[in-house]
Amino acid sequence: MSVFCTNCKRPYPEEGAPYRCPKCGGLFDLTPWDFDPAQVDRSKPGIWRYRHTFSGLPANFPAVSLGEGSTPLVWSTAFGRQIAFKCESLNPTGSFKDRGTTVIATFLHSRGVTEALEDSSGNAGASFAAYAARAGLKAGIYIPAAASGPKRKQIEFYGAQIHPIPGSRADVTRALEKAVGQDFILTAPAYASHAWLPFNLPGYATAAYEIYEQVGAAPSAVIVPAGQGGLWLGLARGFDALKRAGLVKSLPKIIGVQARACSPLWVLTTAGPSALGFVTEGQTLAEGVKVRNPLRAGTILEICDQGYGAFLPVDEADILRGRDELAKRGLYVEPTSALVWSALEQVVAQLPDPLAVVLTGSGYKYAAKA
Ligand SMILES: [Zn+2]
Repeated sequence: MSVFCTNCKRPYPEEGAPYRCPKCGGLFDLTPWDFDPAQVDRSKPGIWRYRHTFSGLPANFPAVSLGEGSTPLVWSTAFGRQIAFKCESLNPTGSFKDRGTTVIATFLHSRGVTEALEDSSGNAGASFAAYAARAGLKAGIYIPAAASGPKRKQIEFYGAQIHPIPGSRADVTRALEKAVGQDFILTAPAYASHAWLPFNLPGYATAAYEIYEQVGAAPSAVIVPAGQGGLWLGLARGFDALKRAGLVKSLPKIIGVQARACSPLWVLTTAGPSALGFVTEGQTLAEGVKVRNPLRAGTILEICDQGYGAFLPVDEADILRGRDELAKRGLYVEPTSALVWSALEQVVAQLPDPLAVVLTGSGYKYAAKA
């Protein structure tokens, strides 16, 4: 198996579904996977046509799928240019998370897990609740007590149990980690963490394969909102796999966008690790990317150092303006997704065509406070 602990280098255990290394508590990651065009199975729907790239999954185990992927790429004029917008809100639960959750849920199912917990500000929780319902798993979702509105309702309708936790987003994760304990291999219920488990990364990478196929080439850059940076990393690794397969000549720059109120990846890549202590978890409409300590920051930083990635901050006042500009083009997104508009404005003049922007989540996910 190509899953290993980034700390002690031990392989992922043959049994159970630990979210951290049972020996040292380290973070699991995947070795680089290959993309083989001859193995793309066009008879399969959505992202499962790329199943050969889902390292860590047992062969032939039935997919826990709701039809994720194959989302539209819509070309629209912005800042005087034709820009490719990848509409991820067309996934089954209304966000890009489904590309990763379908793989994680399939993995957990293959390991005999019957009950699992997840923590989320909204989209990851809604996504996991849906795939747990699909697989017949019992799901519990830890969310900030202050979270309300459509995402919370969506989680409840899928039948998951809600655990509201007072305090910050980090407090929610701490409460869940306490609930699942330190015995990472025998834990029941399992922790289906979209941040700790690496199995969702090849799922996110399928957005790169689709963009490549829909554009007919690698874009010069892909602009995407980033919290933990899972989608960012999946895109970077997906295009890297396409390059190693000889399908694209050069790698696009993956530009992650954060709300200035909580922008650790931007701070890390511009001011260095010593400035990280000054990063706050401030209030922002972009709650989907409010992550104070991204777990894979080290790996993300390495890719930026090689010249294939960058991060940008967006001011709070520009978020809803971005949403409105996208809506004027028929593209209805939630505030977290709208970050990309201001980022596009900041860099569009410096980047050649074609240029791709990922719209991560639906506008239906957000209810403006009265
Ligand atoms: Zn380890």
